[in-house]
Amino acid sequence: MKILFFGPNGSGKGTQGAIVKNEYDIPHIETGVIFRENISGGTELGKAAKGYIDRGELVPDSITIPMILDRLKGDDCKNGWLLDGFPRNLTQAQELDKALEKEGIAVDIVIDMVLDRQIAKNRIMGRRLCVNDNNHPNNIYIDAIKPDGDKCRVCGGELKIRSDDQDEEAIDQRHSIYYDTETGTTAAVNFFKDISAKKGMPKIVELDGSPGVKQVSAELLSKLSG
Ligand code: AMP
Repeated sequence: MKILFFGPNGSGKGTQGAIVKNEYDIPHIETGVIFRENISGGTELGKAAKGYIDRGELVPDSITIPMILDRLKGDDCKNGWLLDGFPRNLTQAQELDKALEKEGIAVDIVIDMVLDRQIAKNRIMGRRLCVNDNNHPNNIYIDAIKPDGDKCRVCGGELKIRSDDQDEEAIDQRHSIYYDTETGTTAAVNFFKDISAKKGMPKIVELDGSPGVKQVSAELLSKLSG
């Protein structure tokens, strides 16, 4: 199963992505996580990406597109993948589509999580990252996933704050890219919706990201199986 997962920063996309990954037993490929691992590891890729990430800008396509297309050739991707955070603009969508077509691969499902921009912004500022597992959701502003004091509510691990999560200007910048219907992420979503309208594939799953985590997961799983 090949799945693209779209949703603005703060929509809970990462949390729901982990559920989809388990449902289909496919690798969860998160562009932002790959970049952050490279920054922590002090790699050349990390050094090249850091400034863009801190400002909430996209890392240039010349770095991001080959990085992801290469990742999709990994052995663990033979039975499918869940792409989260890519494509993030129209060019990336077109290049991904072209590369997949060349390999005779089609995207099966596009998940489009919809959330109001202001709600998404508040959620970002409250989120905390578990040092042990990126998929342990913690948010000081969401009761269902409030941390246990200053520790991870799932495993008791230390919690970190992403520097780009507390910078309002960077958040606004990321959202301006996401909600841009001309060349941004919404244009990428619409690119795949147009393909679906023409070819009947991929299946489009629209998901309201505003209810609590459990309700969103239940709706997601029911729509995936329907
Ligand atoms: P995320 O963890 O998805 O919020 O991504 C964090 C940051 O990584 C973004 O604000 C961008 O700077 C960068 N990034 C993630 N995905 C992409 C992408 N597909 N293209 C360019 N930059 C990206």
